[in-house]
Amino acid sequence: MNPYDFVPIDWHIPPERHCPSPHDRFDGVSGKIEGTITAETPLFIFRSPKKNSGAEPFISNALNQHIIPGSSLKGLFRNLVETIGNGCFLVFDEDYEYDKERKKYTVKYGNKLLSKFKKCSTADLCIACRMFGTIQGSILGKISFNDAEEVNICDHRTVYTIALMEPKPRHQAFYLEPNRQHIAGRKFYFHQPSGIQAENQKTKYNQYIKPIDKGSLFSFSVQFTNLEDAELQTLLYALVLEPEMRHKIGYGKPAGLGSVRFEITKLKMIDYACRYRANQGITEYVGNELASYLATELQPFKDNTTSLTLNALRRIWRWDSDDTTTYRYPVQSWFSANPAAPISKSP
Ligand SMILES: [Zn+2]
Repeated sequence: MNPYDFVPIDWHIPPERHCPSPHDRFDGVSGKIEGTITAETPLFIFRSPKKNSGAEPFISNALNQHIIPGSSLKGLFRNLVETIGNGCFLVFDEDYEYDKERKKYTVKYGNKLLSKFKKCSTADLCIACRMFGTIQGSILGKISFNDAEEVNICDHRTVYTIALMEPKPRHQAFYLEPNRQHIAGRKFYFHQPSGIQAENQKTKYNQYIKPIDKGSLFSFSVQFTNLEDAELQTLLYALVLEPEMRHKIGYGKPAGLGSVRFEITKLKMIDYACRYRANQGITEYVGNELASYLATELQPFKDNTTSLTLNALRRIWRWDSDDTTTYRYPVQSWFSANPAAPISKSP
């Protein structure tokens, strides 16, 4: 089965946009979320710059601790908030398949994304741009992820990954809806609980890496300022999703790496309007109180069983530790023989 699928967009509902709350005064909810990230499969994140010889090590900080960089977490959750919250497409590759002889891109998807879904370009912003900022940086985000730090690391042997960098022509039938009017949506990779796919040696298209193993544990924290209630709710749902779902992060997703479980262990909220009172306007949730607060906040998402988007995300990111499906890209000859086959027909 193909290793990824698309979470579709409901083209009838354009992103809701409005002016973000101002940064220069306290307005809305501020605070901090703390929690843990547990690897459910081997996990790998490159350090930069890459090494030249031997296996690439997992990224670490100045204290030589393994980390999941805040920038990686921000990328993951920006994309998730865009998806869950029906935000704009901040990153959208409009042109594919550069034809060297004709010196032009032969596939253009720019007209396959309705203009209302393109990245925000006025003072009114979608939920993702309000929370994470705009790409130009003219509007700062209201959320900041720290680097997640190692709590316990389980070693994994070095691995030659399967070919992940091989140039593949875009198969339009995968990337467009069946009627070819719109792009198919946002790409997400399936979990592969049965193990990672590896090769025996280095080739032009694979990597020699030293991942960390499942069971590895990190602690994470994220600060937020001036969030609207609906924005905090969306952030909380993006963080914990649903019990039978997991996130994917890092390198080698098609090879089965990068499945992780996020758990919130503490939520601190600060109401600056009450900061001169006895508790300084601070409310902290842990344990049972946290569980019941989260259950209430997440219920509207869980109750939404008709959303095209949420249902597809539930299907693709479903975690079933007994799943033994083999996920591979179709071979080139299949693409050539089936130029119009959609992703659901891939072998
Ligand atoms: Zn936006």
